[in-house]
Amino acid sequence: MWKIGNGLSVSLWHDYWLPCGPPDGFVPPSFRDSMRLPDYAVAVDLYTPLGHSFRELLIRWGVSLPLRASDNDRFIWCGDPSGSFSVASAWNALRAKKDRVEWASLIWDNDVAPRYQFILWLISRNRLPTQVMLLNYGRIDFNVCAFCSEVPDSIDHLFFRCRIRLRWPSSRPPGLICRGGIDVGKKFSPGPRDSLLGRTSTTG
Ligand SMILES: [Zn+2]
Repeated sequence: MWKIGNGLSVSLWHDYWLPCGPPDGFVPPSFRDSMRLPDYAVAVDLYTPLGHSFRELLIRWGVSLPLRASDNDRFIWCGDPSGSFSVASAWNALRAKKDRVEWASLIWDNDVAPRYQFILWLISRNRLPTQVMLLNYGRIDFNVCAFCSEVPDSIDHLFFRCRIRLRWPSSRPPGLICRGGIDVGKKFSPGPRDSLLGRTSTTG
Protein backbone atom coordinates (compact mmCIF):
# COMPACT_ATOMS: atom_id res chain seq x y z
CA MET A 1 0.00 0.00 0.00
CA TRP A 2 0.98 3.61 -0.25
CA LYS A 3 2.68 5.36 2.65
CA ILE A 4 1.63 8.95 2.40
CA GLY A 5 4.33 11.59 2.31
CA ASN A 6 3.27 14.79 0.57
CA GLY A 7 0.21 13.02 -0.86
CA LEU A 8 0.80 14.32 -4.38
CA SER A 9 1.29 11.06 -6.25
CA VAL A 10 -1.47 8.93 -4.75
CA SER A 11 -4.92 8.77 -6.25
CA LEU A 12 -7.40 9.69 -3.55
CA TRP A 13 -10.12 7.41 -4.88
CA HIS A 14 -8.33 4.56 -6.57
CA ASP A 15 -5.05 3.87 -4.74
CA TYR A 16 -4.58 1.75 -1.66
CA TRP A 17 -3.50 4.29 0.90
CA LEU A 18 -6.05 3.85 3.66
CA PRO A 19 -6.04 0.79 5.95
CA CYS A 20 -9.49 -0.14 4.66
CA GLY A 21 -8.44 -0.02 1.01
CA PRO A 22 -9.05 2.38 -1.90
CA PRO A 23 -11.96 4.71 -1.10
CA ASP A 24 -13.74 3.82 -4.34
CA GLY A 25 -14.04 0.32 -2.90
CA PHE A 26 -16.15 1.30 0.08
CA VAL A 27 -17.71 4.66 -0.77
CA PRO A 28 -20.93 4.29 -2.81
CA PRO A 29 -20.74 6.12 -6.18
CA SER A 30 -23.68 8.41 -5.41
CA PHE A 31 -22.11 9.34 -2.12
CA ARG A 32 -18.79 9.84 -3.80
CA ASP A 33 -20.32 12.28 -6.32
CA SER A 34 -21.74 14.32 -3.48
CA MET A 35 -18.23 14.78 -2.08
CA ARG A 36 -17.36 16.86 -5.17
CA LEU A 37 -13.83 15.53 -5.20
CA PRO A 38 -12.92 14.77 -8.84
CA ASP A 39 -11.84 11.35 -10.03
CA TYR A 40 -8.30 12.63 -10.52
CA ALA A 41 -8.02 13.97 -6.94
CA VAL A 42 -4.88 13.03 -5.05
CA ALA A 43 -4.53 12.16 -1.40
CA VAL A 44 -3.43 15.61 -0.33
CA ASP A 45 -6.75 16.99 -1.60
CA LEU A 46 -8.36 15.38 1.40
CA TYR A 47 -6.67 18.00 3.53
CA THR A 48 -7.90 20.94 1.45
CA PRO A 49 -11.18 22.80 2.05
CA LEU A 50 -12.68 20.78 -0.81
CA GLY A 51 -11.86 17.55 0.97
CA HIS A 52 -13.03 18.70 4.38
CA SER A 53 -16.41 16.98 4.22
CA PHE A 54 -14.96 13.67 3.09
CA ARG A 55 -12.21 13.87 5.70
CA GLU A 56 -14.74 14.46 8.47
CA LEU A 57 -16.82 11.59 7.15
CA LEU A 58 -13.87 9.20 7.16
CA ILE A 59 -13.07 10.20 10.72
CA ARG A 60 -16.66 9.55 11.75
CA TRP A 61 -16.44 6.14 10.11
CA GLY A 62 -13.43 5.39 12.27
CA VAL A 63 -10.93 5.37 9.39
CA SER A 64 -7.48 6.31 10.65
CA LEU A 65 -6.01 8.88 8.32
CA PRO A 66 -2.29 8.95 7.63
CA LEU A 67 -0.17 11.83 8.75
CA ARG A 68 1.29 13.89 5.97
CA ALA A 69 5.01 14.43 5.63
CA SER A 70 7.26 16.47 3.41
CA ASP A 71 8.85 13.54 1.61
CA ASN A 72 7.50 11.73 -1.40
CA ASP A 73 4.81 9.09 -1.17
CA ARG A 74 6.22 5.61 -1.02
CA PHE A 75 4.79 2.26 -1.99
CA ILE A 76 5.42 -0.13 0.88
CA TRP A 77 4.95 -3.84 1.48
CA CYS A 78 2.39 -4.47 4.23
CA GLY A 79 3.58 -8.00 4.89
CA ASP A 80 6.48 -6.78 6.98
CA PRO A 81 6.63 -4.08 9.68
CA SER A 82 9.65 -2.57 7.93
CA GLY A 83 7.62 -2.04 4.77
CA SER A 84 10.28 -3.82 2.73
CA PHE A 85 9.40 -6.79 0.58
CA SER A 86 11.08 -10.13 1.06
CA VAL A 87 10.16 -13.60 -0.12
CA ALA A 88 10.15 -14.74 3.52
CA SER A 89 7.62 -12.09 4.55
CA ALA A 90 5.46 -12.91 1.52
CA TRP A 91 5.50 -16.58 2.50
CA ASN A 92 4.59 -15.69 6.09
CA ALA A 93 1.77 -13.48 4.87
CA LEU A 94 0.32 -16.21 2.68
CA ARG A 95 0.64 -19.26 4.85
CA ALA A 96 -1.50 -20.35 7.74
CA LYS A 97 0.82 -20.31 10.70
CA LYS A 98 0.38 -22.90 13.40
CA ASP A 99 2.02 -23.43 16.75
CA ARG A 100 5.63 -24.55 16.63
CA VAL A 101 5.92 -28.25 17.27
CA GLU A 102 8.42 -29.40 19.86
CA TRP A 103 10.41 -31.45 17.37
CA ALA A 104 10.83 -28.63 14.85
CA SER A 105 14.45 -28.00 15.77
CA LEU A 106 15.25 -31.66 15.19
CA ILE A 107 14.40 -31.27 11.52
CA TRP A 108 14.72 -27.64 10.57
CA ASP A 109 18.22 -27.34 11.90
CA ASN A 110 20.37 -25.18 9.68
CA ASP A 111 23.16 -27.71 9.96
CA VAL A 112 21.11 -30.41 8.23
CA ALA A 113 21.33 -30.58 4.44
CA PRO A 114 17.98 -29.54 2.89
CA ARG A 115 17.40 -32.90 1.16
CA TYR A 116 17.69 -34.67 4.50
CA GLN A 117 15.51 -32.08 6.18
CA PHE A 118 12.83 -32.90 3.65
CA ILE A 119 13.19 -36.64 4.22
CA LEU A 120 13.02 -36.15 7.98
CA TRP A 121 9.94 -34.00 7.54
CA LEU A 122 8.30 -36.73 5.45
CA ILE A 123 9.15 -39.20 8.20
CA SER A 124 7.69 -36.94 10.86
CA ARG A 125 4.44 -36.70 8.88
CA ASN A 126 4.49 -40.43 8.16
CA ARG A 127 4.55 -39.61 4.46
CA LEU A 128 7.81 -41.16 3.32
CA PRO A 129 6.89 -43.28 0.27
CA THR A 130 8.01 -46.58 1.71
CA GLN A 131 7.02 -49.91 0.21
CA VAL A 132 4.27 -50.32 2.80
CA MET A 133 2.73 -47.01 1.77
CA LEU A 134 3.09 -47.75 -1.95
CA LEU A 135 1.51 -51.17 -1.44
CA ASN A 136 -1.40 -49.56 0.41
CA TYR A 137 -1.91 -47.13 -2.45
CA GLY A 138 -1.65 -49.91 -5.02
CA ARG A 139 1.35 -48.30 -6.67
CA ILE A 140 3.44 -51.48 -6.45
CA ASP A 141 2.46 -55.12 -6.33
CA PHE A 142 5.10 -56.55 -4.09
CA ASN A 143 8.48 -55.62 -2.78
CA VAL A 144 10.66 -56.29 0.20
CA CYS A 145 13.20 -54.41 2.22
CA ALA A 146 16.39 -53.98 0.20
CA PHE A 147 18.50 -54.75 3.27
CA CYS A 148 16.96 -57.87 4.81
CA SER A 149 14.65 -59.03 2.00
CA GLU A 150 12.13 -60.17 4.60
CA VAL A 151 9.19 -57.77 4.62
CA PRO A 152 8.11 -54.65 2.77
CA ASP A 153 9.90 -51.72 4.27
CA SER A 154 8.21 -49.06 6.33
CA ILE A 155 9.59 -46.06 8.18
CA ASP A 156 9.81 -47.98 11.39
CA HIS A 157 11.28 -51.02 9.71
CA LEU A 158 13.83 -49.12 7.67
CA PHE A 159 15.15 -46.93 10.39
CA PHE A 160 14.56 -48.81 13.62
CA ARG A 161 13.53 -52.44 13.26
CA CYS A 162 15.25 -54.01 10.26
CA ARG A 163 17.73 -56.60 11.42
CA ILE A 164 20.21 -55.06 9.01
CA ARG A 165 18.84 -51.74 9.99
CA LEU A 166 20.53 -48.45 9.60
CA ARG A 167 21.64 -48.34 13.20
CA TRP A 168 21.90 -44.76 14.12
CA PRO A 169 24.42 -43.53 14.98
CA SER A 170 26.77 -46.53 14.88
CA SER A 171 26.07 -47.74 11.32
CA ARG A 172 24.09 -44.95 9.72
CA PRO A 173 24.21 -44.71 5.95
CA PRO A 174 27.07 -42.69 4.57
CA GLY A 175 26.02 -39.13 4.01
CA LEU A 176 23.29 -39.10 6.59
CA ILE A 177 25.54 -36.97 8.68
CA CYS A 178 24.61 -33.45 7.95
CA ARG A 179 26.80 -30.58 7.06
CA GLY A 180 28.99 -29.34 9.84
CA GLY A 181 29.41 -32.79 11.30
CA ILE A 182 26.22 -32.74 13.38
CA ASP A 183 25.17 -36.29 14.03
CA VAL A 184 21.55 -36.67 13.02
CA GLY A 185 21.47 -40.09 14.62
CA LYS A 186 22.20 -38.68 18.04
CA LYS A 187 19.36 -36.26 17.59
CA PHE A 188 16.90 -39.08 17.21
CA SER A 189 18.02 -41.81 19.56
CA PRO A 190 16.91 -42.88 21.95
CA GLY A 191 13.42 -41.66 22.68
CA PRO A 192 12.85 -38.64 20.46
CA ARG A 193 12.04 -40.76 17.43
CA ASP A 194 8.86 -41.93 19.12
CA SER A 195 7.65 -38.42 19.65
CA LEU A 196 8.87 -37.53 16.18
CA LEU A 197 6.97 -40.33 14.53
CA GLY A 198 3.97 -39.83 16.78
CA ARG A 199 2.67 -43.15 15.66
CA THR A 200 4.93 -46.11 15.08
CA SER A 201 4.28 -48.40 12.18
CA THR A 202 3.42 -51.94 13.21
CA THR A 203 4.95 -53.44 10.09
CA GLY A 204 8.31 -55.10 10.44
ZN1 LIG B 1 14.84 -54.89 6.48
